[in-house]
Amino acid sequence: MSDPGRLTVLSGPAGVGKSSVVAFLREHHPEIWHSVSVTTRPRRPDEVEGVDRFFVDGDEFARMIRDGELLEHAHYAGNWYGTPLAPVTERLASGLPVLLEIEVQGARQVRTLVPDALLVFLKPPSWEELERRLRGRGTEPADVIQRRLDTARIELAAEDEFDEVIVNTSVDAAAEALAALVLGTR
Ligand code: 5GP
Repeated sequence: MSDPGRLTVLSGPAGVGKSSVVAFLREHHPEIWHSVSVTTRPRRPDEVEGVDRFFVDGDEFARMIRDGELLEHAHYAGNWYGTPLAPVTERLASGLPVLLEIEVQGARQVRTLVPDALLVFLKPPSWEELERRLRGRGTEPADVIQRRLDTARIELAAEDEFDEVIVNTSVDAAAEALAALVLGTR
């Protein structure tokens, strides 16, 4: 039997660029498997079922929780998100590295359930930069943007709970730093 693989969690505030970093890894480090989350959020036009997310309704999500099919789950910005347990367990048991890209509440659950998981926090270069990204094109109502900024401030305060911090000054540099952590080469 090989040694169990390493479980790495990438987290950080909304808008920091977690999904861009994971997209870069997918292209440049196909050897790093990352979990595909289940969500009740509607599919975006560019997303592929089973590749980006598994899209389910609220009843199915509740069933998955009830039947113990999720490693962790969280309610975030009006939708449910969760990590399917079985594929993660299988890969770790085979000694293969696993990457989860999840929000902060989920990262805390993983910390409790898998104490030796490596928790990595992706941080923006500055609050102003994050604010600029979260405001987007400025076409959304002021209260929606304000809620987003308030949530991001709370998420940013979680940095100290993480084992490693990567500043997202550029997607490729952040992704390479993450790859080194996931593969245990740093
Ligand atoms: P999005 O709606 O952009 O797919 O994701 C919104 C937030 O949910 C992001 O911060 C993302 O990291 C997080 N997220 C995605 N999948 C999961 C998951 O399986 N569990 C948890 N806890 N958060 C997730």
